[in-house]
Amino acid sequence: MAVTVVAHPLIKHKLTLMRKKDTSTASFRALLSEISMLLAYEALEGIKLREEEIETPLQKMMAPVVDGKKLVLVAILRAGWGIVDGMLKIVPNARVGHIGMYRDPKTLQPVEYFYKVPSDLSDRDVIVCDPMLATGHSAVAAVARVKKSNPASLRFVCLLGCPEGVATFEKAHPDVPVFTAAIDERLNDHGYILPGLGDAGDRLFGTK
Ligand code: URA
Repeated sequence: MAVTVVAHPLIKHKLTLMRKKDTSTASFRALLSEISMLLAYEALEGIKLREEEIETPLQKMMAPVVDGKKLVLVAILRAGWGIVDGMLKIVPNARVGHIGMYRDPKTLQPVEYFYKVPSDLSDRDVIVCDPMLATGHSAVAAVARVKKSNPASLRFVCLLGCPEGVATFEKAHPDVPVFTAAIDERLNDHGYILPGLGDAGDRLFGTK
């Protein structure tokens, strides 16, 4: 399935600001939220609408509205929260799920410690969010977990990918479209994306 790089000039500009090592926590957080709003425009193409009767100043009409109950944004904790925060500004009535995964520093494999999503995903479109598609292991595991609930559709949104992470994800989930702001050069030996932007969670929450 396709990887869409949403290479809009505004996204490129904001991503450059995020990459700078001296960008403050507050700016990093605001920029991730802003880029996520822009990514949402592409990533939410084709989501479910329902017709609602409204009244314009001139007459009644049936008009399309986003069916928030049918849209679930799932944050892979903790940094996925930053993408969900931005996307919720575009679709405030969406439902939100959380998957807690941490990366074992030795094996680089994901370990799940929390899972809470709305019940019955079978008629809902689900967007799994995590800023960094690095080794791809967390994304692969999180999407596999959500797939068990048979969502109507499934997409993955990140901020930055790398060739290794994209390949791993596509191999495991060829049916799940990926949306990202950029694909960087490579992964280093510690599982970080180069040139990247460092640890997205630490930069988002100011924990380092
Ligand atoms: N997670 C991050 O926060 N940054 C990376 O570069 C890779 C994984």
